[in-house]
Amino acid sequence: MGIPKIWVYAEAEGDKPVTSTLELLTKAREIGDAVECVYVGANADALAGALGEHGATKVHAVDGGDVLSGVVGASALAALVAAEQPDLVLFAQSYDGRDALSRLSVKLDRPVLTNGTDLKVDGDSVLVSTAIFGGNTLVDTVFEGEKPFLAAIRPKSFAAEPGGGAAAEVVAADPGDAGRAAEAKVLERHVEEREGPKLEEATVVVSGGRGIGSAEAYGPLVEELAKLLNGASGASRAIVDAGWVPYSKQVGQTGKTVKPKLYVALGISGATQHLVGMKGSDTILAINKDGEAPIFSVADLGIVGDVHKVVPKLIEALKARG
Ligand SMILES: Cc1cc2nc3c(=O)[nH]c(=O)nc-3n(C[C@H](O)[C@H](O)[C@H](O)COP(=O)(O)OP(=O)(O)OC[C@H]3O[C@@H](n4cnc5c(N)ncnc54)[C@H](O)[C@@H]3O)c2cc1C
Repeated sequence: MGIPKIWVYAEAEGDKPVTSTLELLTKAREIGDAVECVYVGANADALAGALGEHGATKVHAVDGGDVLSGVVGASALAALVAAEQPDLVLFAQSYDGRDALSRLSVKLDRPVLTNGTDLKVDGDSVLVSTAIFGGNTLVDTVFEGEKPFLAAIRPKSFAAEPGGGAAAEVVAADPGDAGRAAEAKVLERHVEEREGPKLEEATVVVSGGRGIGSAEAYGPLVEELAKLLNGASGASRAIVDAGWVPYSKQVGQTGKTVKPKLYVALGISGATQHLVGMKGSDTILAINKDGEAPIFSVADLGIVGDVHKVVPKLIEALKARG
């Protein structure tokens, strides 16, 4: 027997649920008896098919208007939790997920477990795994006290797999009382322009580190190679901190977790904090001039050499192949 009732706080981009929501639903389906979603937005009907296919039987849909989604999400959830008593509420470790989760934690006066990388059930106990000390140590923490248990899980902790369920039933839910927080309104939204696939979802990721030498080298080495491989470009924290590329490209403990089929590390030493964000990739290719660099300990293929010499040759060969 699994956990009787699990809720997933759903998020969407346009009319599609984000992958991290589908990942949580896939896991919830595995460990729960009943799986439902709570979603803030006016387009729940458009999401019902994909949410149902991944395991949700019901979507509690809250139209929050132009109030911040986390504010409405928490007030709606507080009311819904009191009425329907789920055992576990799962959030993605995303900006909106964390916003709703932290506000809900205060409203319900319940603790949260965040930054989880796995969820386990042992009898009546629910455990959340978290990587600490830069990913060197994994700890399992068990919830105690009153339900619902509240947890945030990092994207890419589970694979998103459809289970063949029918479209979820969409039920309108009350936004609840958000108090003065509802006075702050969203006036404008800015969608960052991006060429090629999203970093977290790309099947190929090419990342650059301090070894590329300068901000100017990022375009011709990292972005060019990523483009030729139909992939996304990423970065180590060293070059994000140096201001060479934006934070949205950072891979690692304090950046994004990626699990592509191919991860190419250019001039990256392989600090544990970087490895924790990419070591789940299917195949890792590292190019580094230091044969002793720790990145080679996780690499399937390694080239000991100067990125300024090796990468242009690789680009040339890929272009020649057409
Ligand atoms: C709390 C905390 C959180 C952190 N979170 C993250 C995180 O999320 N992501 C992350 O990446 N880091 C993170 N870090 C930082 C991490 O510890 C490392 O400092 C960082 O990853 C190093 O980046 P790097 O490999 O680009 O640079 P370096 O460690 O300086 O490595 C550069 C590499 O390039 C090689 N090289 C130099 N020149 C060339 C060349 N011409 N050709 C080929 N190779 C060359 C060198 O041999 C070296 O191996 C975190 C640190 C802390 C303390």
